[in-house]
Amino acid sequence: MNEFELIARLTRALPTNESVVVGAGDDCAVLDVGAGDRRLLFKTDAVVEGIHFTSETPPEKIGHKALARCLSDIAAMAGTPTAALITIGLPKNFDPKFVARIYAGLNELAERQGVAVVGGETTTNPERILISIALVGFVPRGRVLLRSGAKVGDAIFVTGELGGSLAGKHLEFEPRLSEARWLAENFAIHALMDLSDGLAGDLCHLLKASGVGAELLKTAIPISRAARLAAKSGDAAKPALVAALTDGEDFELLFTVASKDAVPLLDKWKQNFPKLKLSCIGKIIAGEGVRLRDKTGVQTLAVHGYVHFS
Ligand SMILES: [Mg+2]
Repeated sequence: MNEFELIARLTRALPTNESVVVGAGDDCAVLDVGAGDRRLLFKTDAVVEGIHFTSETPPEKIGHKALARCLSDIAAMAGTPTAALITIGLPKNFDPKFVARIYAGLNELAERQGVAVVGGETTTNPERILISIALVGFVPRGRVLLRSGAKVGDAIFVTGELGGSLAGKHLEFEPRLSEARWLAENFAIHALMDLSDGLAGDLCHLLKASGVGAELLKTAIPISRAARLAAKSGDAAKPALVAALTDGEDFELLFTVASKDAVPLLDKWKQNFPKLKLSCIGKIIAGEGVRLRDKTGVQTLAVHGYVHFS
């Protein structure tokens, strides 16, 4: 059973109540908790030694990554993060200085993004460090952006460059919070999510939620320098384009917008975020799945993103 089959089974019949606006299945849960014209965003995420970082990873980067992953999901709803609870599981022989440095990295990002750390829990975890973060944030009531809003004819965009994150970016990335809020404030974005498991797999989640398909232009996929270097060096197991489509932990934004807004959006983006690439990579079409177009024709994309337990 892979990660997505397990999630599907666990979320089939979850308890619910009148606060739930959007339950499991999007980047964050959306709740109506009587906060006036705002909706509450609620998120949890965990990083585990040996999976998301190694025993060699500088501890500040472990803390940074643990929180940045959660913040990326708030960005995926175009929200503003508010407060976090930190649970840390430590082996019996832990080094207090090492743990303090994990928190230093986490706190530095929290302060920069205006997130309060309001408590948590410490526990023993045999052999491996585990950090789990619960995070709340807010989004204006009428501006909740889900994965399910893509429409046939929409242009598909991604921020940044994709693939090769394991070469270093996955420990240092900056969650796209201000960019996502700017998009939601300035354009009628139809669907939005962040890329955590690879473009090919994550786009499929967005397409399924929206009941549509996509056609991507091969030459428009922004491939990272890290993915190109790895492919060139010869020790990469896959070509750079496949890395850009399937490598996890890009933590960029993926969104769709009516095609008439595509050019104005690109123009305005360049003025506001001159250092961050924005690429129109294709369009939403009727049907299902992802097709990849190049000058020789169209092929169905059979590659998938990163899946736990597969
Ligand atoms: Mg996400």
